[in-house]
Amino acid sequence: MSSYPARAVVDLAALASNVRALAAHAPTAQVMAVVKADGYGHGLLPAARAALAGGATWLGAAQADEALALRAAGIGGRVLTWLYAPGAPLRQLVEADVDVSVAAPWALDAVVAAARESGRTARVHLKVDTGLGRNGMLPSVYRDVLDAALRAQAEGAIAVVGVWSHLAFADEPQHPTVVEQAQVFADAVAHAEQRGAALEVRHLANSAATLTNPTVHYDLVRLGIAVYGLSPVPRLGGPEAFGLVPVMTLEAELATVKEVPAGFCVSYAHAYTTTEPTMLGVVPLGYADGIPRHASGALPEHPGGPIQVGGRRLAVAGRVCMDQVVVDLGPGAREVAGDRVELFGTGAEGGPTAEDWARAAGTISYEIVTRVGARVPRVYIPTTPPAASALRGAGEPRSADVTGGEGRG
Ligand SMILES: *Cc1c(COP(=O)(O)O)cnc(C)c1O
Repeated sequence: MSSYPARAVVDLAALASNVRALAAHAPTAQVMAVVKADGYGHGLLPAARAALAGGATWLGAAQADEALALRAAGIGGRVLTWLYAPGAPLRQLVEADVDVSVAAPWALDAVVAAARESGRTARVHLKVDTGLGRNGMLPSVYRDVLDAALRAQAEGAIAVVGVWSHLAFADEPQHPTVVEQAQVFADAVAHAEQRGAALEVRHLANSAATLTNPTVHYDLVRLGIAVYGLSPVPRLGGPEAFGLVPVMTLEAELATVKEVPAGFCVSYAHAYTTTEPTMLGVVPLGYADGIPRHASGALPEHPGGPIQVGGRRLAVAGRVCMDQVVVDLGPGAREVAGDRVELFGTGAEGGPTAEDWARAAGTISYEIVTRVGARVPRVYIPTTPPAASALRGAGEPRSADVTGGEGRG
């Protein structure tokens, strides 16, 4: 057990159940759980395994190394990777049975060459820029690359299994670009089919589109943030509105507690000043642990990011430092060093959420969970309770490797 006085508790049972709930939202599509960015900060391998246990049949990894790490760990299912530059380990990817995206003419050449070297057929998904304006081929380039890809397919080097794209405004379902992009995508798919491509998976929807727009589900939905139990459309509803439960709880033990007078200046640049005699607690998590410095609390009337202490919703007082933040526990507070505080979690019983932190920092919940620092230990609640035979004696907690886990709902 780590001696780190803080941890991210990752409830893999909640993750698997989120995948099941999401699959029910898209009954005609297969589910890809996107596990890029270390499983959105939750841990690549545990997140991938739990997602497969919940019924996902595909895993999505932005980076080639993440895709290879999945295979190196013996993880099955289909894996798609999509963001690479010249020099990428394409041959290794093909040999590891990873599907690869092609988002530029050079990438098709590189994948075909890698497939020929390995003597295997590479499975390729052609990525169309239907209007996001990021990675992907504009339709005219796509049509040329499609023809070249079908020639390489005829030679057996590759199989064009997918055409795909990504939306710019999925989180604003009424935005006119959603329909426009969907039409460009439909045209790209129809063109491929006219040219004789036998597409296995056409895919366009991320979490937000999956939950708000069944017309873009196609054969496969690519789910990231919702798998981790956070709402992709907070203006339309929180996780509970979609049957989701936040997977990560970030908690810490108070390192110190002390009594201070009124007018006491707190942390760097004295951005916060106590208004009355009070108790201050030091929470051993800072911006190196992913606590956004933008969620600093300046003066008592501009509270920082929320911190739940003994059933009270408090806030960061003063500047977020590299390793620590201060919380104003209030006059007469009874907390002592070692007491548990929660920065965010399921939101049960009014507790703070990653979405609350996103609002406090002027960002999105994605950034809150993906930036939880590598040095913060991840503690996993397993997808299934340990088998009775694995428990030595009665009265063991459900997960023996979780500490301080009471009251997480
Ligand atoms: C990250 C990502 C997703 C998942 O998006 P969410 O909004 O987290 O569901 C899907 N597709 C692509 C191409 C992505 O980069």
